[in-house]
Amino acid sequence: MTPKPSQDTKSLLWVNGWYSFAKRMDSPHFNARPQDAKIDLVVLHSISLPPGIYGGDTVTDFLSGQALSLHHPYLETIKDLKVSAHFFIRRQGELVQLVSCNDRAWHAGVSHYRGRDGCNDDSIGIELEGLEGETFEAEQYETLSSLCASLLQHFPIEHFAGHEHIAPGRKKDPGSGFLWEVLRHSLGLSKDLFPVFNK
Ligand SMILES: [Zn+2]
Repeated sequence: MTPKPSQDTKSLLWVNGWYSFAKRMDSPHFNARPQDAKIDLVVLHSISLPPGIYGGDTVTDFLSGQALSLHHPYLETIKDLKVSAHFFIRRQGELVQLVSCNDRAWHAGVSHYRGRDGCNDDSIGIELEGLEGETFEAEQYETLSSLCASLLQHFPIEHFAGHEHIAPGRKKDPGSGFLWEVLRHSLGLSKDLFPVFNK
């Protein structure tokens, strides 16, 4: 057999902002980015629903606007929020994509970073299944690292920050249990791209 030409690889990996290695679960919680948006920031989050309970479909249901089948006092307080992220990484490392990276997902809220407000406009939001202060699984770092490596090739990414860095005082995720050095080292990136190393 003749090998396929390698020039197709890049376009097959990303189709209209959708990453081929992710399981696609379309969320209605998005809108268009500003026309001149330069997508140069990756924002990391942690989420689990109810907080600290892992597994199940509650997070993906929540981020994709589905009715929550689980009843819990905390879920009652958030069930009507319209939020999303581009990606969600489960504890076992499974990667889900909810919003095309070409569109604006609703993960950052009121935020400010690298001199600009409203970080949803020009960032890619990645939710890790977890809880601020708790640790994350090796499989999650592996998935995150390979996703970020591909994002770096496809978008003009210059910054990696946590929600806690773009909305300080309001948000604390992904929190102290996230090992930024593991991500930085696996990508072979300079510390300058990460606020945690430049306080
Ligand atoms: Zn967050």
